Amino acid sequence: MGVFDAVASEGHEQILYGYDKVSGLRTIIAIHSTALGPALGGTRFFPYESETDAVKDVLRLSTGMTYKAAAAGLDLGGGKAVIIGDPRTLKSERLFRAYGRIVDSLQGRYITAEDVGTTTYDMDMVRRETRWALGNSIALGGAGDPSPVTARGLYAATRAVAQKLWGDSDLTGRRFAVQGVGKVGSAFVQLLVEARAEVIATDNYEPTLQAAVDNYGVKPVELDEIYDIDCDFFSPCALGASLNEKTIPRLNCHAVVGSANNQLATDQDAVRLAERGILYAPDFVVNAGGLINVYDELHGYSKTRALHRVDSIFDATLKILDAAEEHEITPNEAAVHVADERIRDIGDLRRFRRSGDDRN
Ligand code: NAD
Repeated sequence: MGVFDAVASEGHEQILYGYDKVSGLRTIIAIHSTALGPALGGTRFFPYESETDAVKDVLRLSTGMTYKAAAAGLDLGGGKAVIIGDPRTLKSERLFRAYGRIVDSLQGRYITAEDVGTTTYDMDMVRRETRWALGNSIALGGAGDPSPVTARGLYAATRAVAQKLWGDSDLTGRRFAVQGVGKVGSAFVQLLVEARAEVIATDNYEPTLQAAVDNYGVKPVELDEIYDIDCDFFSPCALGASLNEKTIPRLNCHAVVGSANNQLATDQDAVRLAERGILYAPDFVVNAGGLINVYDELHGYSKTRALHRVDSIFDATLKILDAAEEHEITPNEAAVHVADERIRDIGDLRRFRRSGDDRN
């Protein structure tokens, strides 16, 4: 499949390739939609095996951002960028500043932030060349690392699921199996432990898992064992596609709520979960806390305002679970409906605005 076919298949607006010979920068920026506002999405720095893999990933991720922003009720479209290469060896000030210039050429149609492989510090360098880089350090007036805020939103969503299942949002004594205790997973575990929930966890990086044992007293298990744990909540906080035809039959939980993007390997996996009587809280609804946090930077960051909005993920999750029950569809379908409806209604309204209005 050629690049134009790939772009057309997902309905993207624009794809931009950028290159800087001196630093070795090779980047692809995908703008999926600006129907609701500028396309905001992080920059993934990853050693893709091929350019085709990078294109596929940036198209898939940018589409997801459109839905995440719309479901969260933000005035944002969806976009994403990838930088091809190993972040451990390729990162340099020159590379990020060259990248910043490429982002700047889009004049605010695309706004970037950190993602897997990039940090707040990297975004500070991008910011030196463009105002369209968020997720900056607190010293620069930014919001800092969004991960603890993502965990806070995840915690709100989990309470909403408990409310739906048992008529009580209290998580005291509930049992969790957490897959991945990195930046979001560990902050989530901290909130769970503070709420006196029981946590069993795994991570494929031993020091990270040990830190969760030492800091929060989680019970560690082997990587593959996590799917079989008898628990109330299975929480994927590592990588995507961990819910699939092989793992779903093994799950021994009442609900799935986690921060990982693209948890379902295929749409059919939402049906598989429902058939097993497992309530699935859609990933792009429950992990929107980080996006909400960086979005707030656009208006001059206010932590109080951002956290207030993040806490509303409780209501957003409950609303989607109720709609799914009412219409006898999966929560994933219900969440897509909510996002589609907003893109149609508000996106249509925005056609009356001048394009320059998109930039703030
Ligand atoms: P992270 O890299 O800090 O943490 C991921 C952890 O998962 C790491 O400790 C890693 O060792 C572990 N891991 C990787 N593969 C694993 C496996 N097969 N089994 C068990 N553990 C494994 O990343 P993060 O920022 O905590 O993000 C976690 C997930 O949440 C990612 O999918 C990310 O895209 C998503 N997410 C993050 C944010 C955010 O604010 N950071 C926002 C929205 C979504």
